[in-house]
Amino acid sequence: MNSGFVLVLSGPSGVGKDTVINELLKKDDKIIVSISMTTRQPRPGEVDGVNYYFVTKEEFEEKIRNNEMLEYAQYGSNYYGTPKEPVKAWTDEGMTVILEIEVQGATKIKELQPDVCTMFLMPPSFHTLRTRLEGRMTETQDQIAERLAIARKEITMATDYDYIIVNDRLENAVENILELIYRHRRHLREGTPDDPSKLD
Ligand code: 5GP
Repeated sequence: MNSGFVLVLSGPSGVGKDTVINELLKKDDKIIVSISMTTRQPRPGEVDGVNYYFVTKEEFEEKIRNNEMLEYAQYGSNYYGTPKEPVKAWTDEGMTVILEIEVQGATKIKELQPDVCTMFLMPPSFHTLRTRLEGRMTETQDQIAERLAIARKEITMATDYDYIIVNDRLENAVENILELIYRHRRHLREGTPDDPSKLD
């Protein structure tokens, strides 16, 4: 059986999703991350085609009309979405494809494809989140306030996910996620449905 699957990783802005994903990519060469499309402006250092595909609102809306997006959502005043084609090709090749997406997109994908594995990366406290967002200095005070308000709502959705991972220490979070990935692959190879409520 093909052990390729889609792993959705959500979590509030500033929780450390990018850092966790970079560690996962280093540790397992069957893990790959989907590059999303967005209408937001690149941050300093972000590269088109690496961090995101940066497009205009018109271009994004055309992709939606042409049914080229697996999912998309509005976050703040921008669109974010996952191009459909590469995700299918990679899962067919047996890869674990990580979608780093917010909660509306995660809900849509789970409805469309109930076999995707969903994880919510949780900050150890709201205070930590605020400190991290302020410390990275990539958003204005207004944008930070908007992101924290979204975060409060997102955290209430965490119980809809298959797993909640607390990002207190990076190594622990990465090890926990890797363990769950190996378990999910094993279930797929053996053809048995993975049931998150029954931990090995
Ligand atoms: P940021 O602007 O910080 O890069 O991302 C803002 C939010 O959009 C994050 O919660 C991130 O996970 C989410 N996001 C990034 N790409 C996608 C996507 O393709 N689809 C959806 N639904 N959310 C995304």
